[in-house]
Amino acid sequence: MAQSLLIGAHMSIAGGVHKALISGHEIGASTIQIFTANQKQWKGKPISEKEVALWKEQLEITGIREVMSHDSYLINLGSNKPELLAKSCTAFEDEIKRCLQLDLAYLNFHPGAATGDSEENCLNRIVDSLLSMEPLVSKGSLRLLIEATAGQGSTMGYSFEHLGYLVERVQNRIPIGVCIDTCHIFAAGYDIRTEDAWNQTLKEFDKHVGIKNLCALHVNDSKNPLGSRKDRHASLGKGEIGMESFKVMMTHPKLKNIPKYLETPDGDLYWKEEIAKLRAFASK
Ligand SMILES: [Zn+2]
Ligand SMILES: [Zn+2]
Repeated sequence: MAQSLLIGAHMSIAGGVHKALISGHEIGASTIQIFTANQKQWKGKPISEKEVALWKEQLEITGIREVMSHDSYLINLGSNKPELLAKSCTAFEDEIKRCLQLDLAYLNFHPGAATGDSEENCLNRIVDSLLSMEPLVSKGSLRLLIEATAGQGSTMGYSFEHLGYLVERVQNRIPIGVCIDTCHIFAAGYDIRTEDAWNQTLKEFDKHVGIKNLCALHVNDSKNPLGSRKDRHASLGKGEIGMESFKVMMTHPKLKNIPKYLETPDGDLYWKEEIAKLRAFASK
């Protein structure tokens, strides 16, 4: 049973997107996250037909499912600078197109940053940006996932109220959901170190967002303490969250079957071991 759980990590696409599936399979991943293009550039190339064919072939061979893309760090769908907002929407559209080419399950994105404007204005611009994607995403099976953030700087999405606000306003027109990053929500002030703490946090999430909208988890420990609002990932058990939290996560009825993606540091050294450890927790 533990083998069928969807657990993986963020794999590199160096040498072609299909390489991410091969290296994911090698470390025991049953799902993966990728960047579909260079995440530090505005213009991503569309994926060639040849690449798409190789991708589909490797999907078949590796059995990897529910692949998620992480959007570019440059994109700010809530920007108060018109030029940057337009550029962001175009880049996000291109990202969606690449996700559709690869038939991905999820596109995970950071909601945006207020950069001097009010949070409410920023949230409303994010809603408008998302709604403008309706013609592209309404028919496909791609689901857009708002990533819960640590609240560093003026980034939005650090409170479940923000996430709920966005989901509520777009859900009738856009396939939307939420990805909880364990490091981010912990840094944002939601405790998950024990079973009781997880239950309390999930109760809060359900109240503001709805548990049915929780579609994925980024699994990371945190270098910084609860409520620090700092986004620094640590290897599992080597941060302020601690291994108990991940044990609970792997057996919790509301969390166990949700796809999980590691974004912990030094993946080459630790991911294989971390994936195996998470599977072992689930089978206990
Ligand atoms: Zn992220
Ligand atoms: Zn994340």
